[in-house]
Amino acid sequence: MTVTDKTAVVTGAGSRRGIGRATAHTLAAAGWNVAVLDLDEASAKDAAHEVADRNGVQAVGIGCDITDEASVENALTVLDGALPPVGALVNNAGITSPVPFLEVTGEEWDRVFAVNVRGAFNVTRRLAPGMAERGFGRIVFLSSVSAERGGGVFGGVAYSAAKAAELGFTRALARELGARGVTVNAVAPGLIDTDITGGALEGERKEQLIAGIPVGRNGRVADVADLITFLCREETGYVTGATYDVNGGAHIH
Ligand code: NAD
Repeated sequence: MTVTDKTAVVTGAGSRRGIGRATAHTLAAAGWNVAVLDLDEASAKDAAHEVADRNGVQAVGIGCDITDEASVENALTVLDGALPPVGALVNNAGITSPVPFLEVTGEEWDRVFAVNVRGAFNVTRRLAPGMAERGFGRIVFLSSVSAERGGGVFGGVAYSAAKAAELGFTRALARELGARGVTVNAVAPGLIDTDITGGALEGERKEQLIAGIPVGRNGRVADVADLITFLCREETGYVTGATYDVNGGAHIH
């Protein structure tokens, strides 16, 4: 199949060591043109340059706060016409929060939901109509093992609840859009080596966590990026509403 006439939008792909940037690269290596949306405009542009240089596709990086509908509208308007039509969306931008429930404030709860849930809604709501109209789309949500097992690695209740909301979002949207050629799936990574925890999971704590992982190491961004790219293939059109674990066996259920 060819995806050279299509664009994949990856949110939160600015982060240098993040899952989003790795995904932007694997999608581009598979032929997708790529649009990077990130709160950090400089990193979004840097990621787009890197992706275009390494993979010979078209790529654009745009500064965008996905929690803000106007910002999403502006970013995606820039994209219209600049790149081929959007065929895939990876709802990757996310934040975590380790605050225990007995200490969490309403503001902290809202902050976590604003990015992980409302942000994904803002971008998906803007892009899904075009996919449905063109009869092709691949939407992938970055949920987490935290949603399945109830936190316990780093994220607290707010993060687990937000990541579980993404699973409900995935499943209900898969039902609505299936007949329009749009698949919607979720990936649920375990501990992946990125900067999301701000260095809070290092040393002995990290060793303890790795001891509980059957494959004997923590996850790499490429482990997740490959799975997402597989779910975005045109040939993967009969997989929808699914949640794929990528956790080295840390949570087998
Ligand atoms: P990361 O912190 O490396 O990258 C997150 C990116 O999202 C950053 O570039 C950041 O600028 C961007 N972002 C944050 N708020 C934003 C906003 N309002 N608008 C636009 N961009 C915004 O994180 P990561 O570890 O690569 O995680 C990516 C996704 O995978 C997240 O949804 C996370 O919850 C999920 N996840 C990660 C792990 C893990 O262990 N790293 C495990 C399970 C799930």
